[in-house]
Amino acid sequence: MLSDKECLKVVEIMGKSYPDAHSSLTADSDFHFLLAVIMSAQTTDKAVNLLSPKLFETYKRPNELAEADVADVMELIKTIGLYRNKAKYLVECAKKIVSDFEGVVPQTRKELMSLPGVGRKTADVVMAERFKIPAIAVDTHVTRVSKRLRMVAQDANVIEIEEALMKKLPKSIWIVAHFRMIYWGRYQCTARSPKCETCPLLEMCAEGKLRI
Ligand code: SF4
Repeated sequence: MLSDKECLKVVEIMGKSYPDAHSSLTADSDFHFLLAVIMSAQTTDKAVNLLSPKLFETYKRPNELAEADVADVMELIKTIGLYRNKAKYLVECAKKIVSDFEGVVPQTRKELMSLPGVGRKTADVVMAERFKIPAIAVDTHVTRVSKRLRMVAQDANVIEIEEALMKKLPKSIWIVAHFRMIYWGRYQCTARSPKCETCPLLEMCAEGKLRI
């Protein structure tokens, strides 16, 4: 298992390759960003970005989406996976923001997770990206990369991964660490064919050494 110091070094090395790692979802407000993150589950950010301008233009504020017909929302997002459920979540989420939070996206994890369609990962992404509240959202990339690098235990679940990374890394870098690990998983340490031969982390990576 990598030490705290080594984990920090890993994140620094990732930063040399991806100094500008950030969310690829495009949105012009906290509300629209929340919708984009909900839609991005099991779908690429690119697919969400393609449909979101029309959706956001149609429903600018929570009260407008809260009054929408779910079928109309489905029609606007039908190009992404699970669009039926997601359309229902979007409308329900908007209703709750209007009824419980005076039409403003809440900023705490507990409040965000009280919204339909919002799990821990979505809440963490919104907190980090929109409100700059330190958080490490654990998605498939963060899970794979942190396990391959032995930053966390091989049998750790998402909550254990999040807790382990938060313990090992200084709070001041949680947000950038999260985005760098996502980029690393997307472009360097991909699920099917990680580029171990050219990886700047190979010397520190138990999995990489086994693979080459
Ligand atoms: S050496 Fe291979 S397994 Fe390790 S982080 Fe790099 S790409 Fe991933």
